[in-house]
Amino acid sequence: MKGERKTPPAIKGTQDILPPYVKKWQKAETEAKGLFELYGYKEIRTPVFEPTELFQKGTGPTSDIVTKEMYTFVDKGGRSLTLRPEYTPSVVRAIIEHRLYLQPEPLRFYFIGPMFRYDKPQKGRYRQFHQVNIEVFNEKDSAIDAEIVEMADILLHKLGVSDIEVLVNSVGCKKCRPSYHQELKSKAQAQKELLCEDCQRKIETNPLRIFDCKKETCREVSQEFPKIIDFLCSECKEHFEKFCSYLDSYQIPFRVEPRLVRGLDYYTKTTFEIVSSRLGSQDAVLGGGRYDDMMTEFGGPDICGIGFAMGMERLLSVMPYRAEKDQFLYIVYLGEEAKKEGMELVRELRREGVPCLIEYKDKSLKNQMSRANKLEATWTLIIGEEEVKSGEYSLKNMESGVQEKVGREGIREAVKGR
Ligand SMILES: [Zn+2]
Ligand SMILES: [Zn+2]
Repeated sequence: MKGERKTPPAIKGTQDILPPYVKKWQKAETEAKGLFELYGYKEIRTPVFEPTELFQKGTGPTSDIVTKEMYTFVDKGGRSLTLRPEYTPSVVRAIIEHRLYLQPEPLRFYFIGPMFRYDKPQKGRYRQFHQVNIEVFNEKDSAIDAEIVEMADILLHKLGVSDIEVLVNSVGCKKCRPSYHQELKSKAQAQKELLCEDCQRKIETNPLRIFDCKKETCREVSQEFPKIIDFLCSECKEHFEKFCSYLDSYQIPFRVEPRLVRGLDYYTKTTFEIVSSRLGSQDAVLGGGRYDDMMTEFGGPDICGIGFAMGMERLLSVMPYRAEKDQFLYIVYLGEEAKKEGMELVRELRREGVPCLIEYKDKSLKNQMSRANKLEATWTLIIGEEEVKSGEYSLKNMESGVQEKVGREGIREAVKGR
């Protein structure tokens, strides 16, 4: 019997985010939203699950996400659905579905929410994790690429995340990538024996992906591979050079990282990451890039896109934060009349924006006082029989220990004066 009533624990790779810690999440989210709005971004919210093919098509059939990490299931109607492993395909779908490209407003969106990947759970990696995303559409100019990096940089500094480095690269376009692929393929083919099984497979499917491999031997071998930056067509080259010069004019230090191809198939031209030395060597706080072909591949208009995703869990692991103490008034009462008086009082005070707590546990005055102490109330208001009659209450400042007799108006003054 006992065994049957046991509650199963949370699923591996998920976590409860409990009240004191939630404040840190709220702080990061609030700062991010506020900043994005300054840059003209608007919030968009899309469903947590989508047709599986959306991600197969959008994220790319050879990406690790699609081949290994998707939470895919068949629903009761026999449809294959997937819990979103990333956000970009959903927003592209939404833009096409609602024809948002016809609106005069700039196509700048932000979004904060959970993502799902069947990754190996380990420290700092979750199967339900959270991202802050931004996306901009219909801006070809590399000035927007630089502005996005600048915005990300500002955000991280606002949140107190220092020791960061901006890494940038270009992965070329449909025109220049094929010849690079050929070259890369033949170099990789020549050293096939030295690569891991996974990478050997990638030679055929998507050789660029070899740069993502975390195995030391593969990393070493791929050091010697040709760099895409040397194969860029004139359009991509100019885009990248301008992007870099705009970053210079923002005085944002950056490093060109030729290995930076990002784990997704859809990137074109610019890719970038911001890494923190306080995370592991390969862990970016934030990463993104351009995906100029996704909209047309989805059957939409020829509109380019660029964006970034920031992992909340990773961000919070490097974000300094000291919780501020909650300020609130705790009501201590004795007897039914005083309780009613207290209920009325907190209602009034809350309406005026004063945080109040009254509990209904029928405890003695002494017990309630020690409760207020324990909770570290800022003020305690004592209501007994006398106080109900006189309309004067004892207000105690718990920090200074000073106690005074006050009427209703007096409470407000004392509390708001802080
Ligand atoms: Zn190109
Ligand atoms: Zn490998």
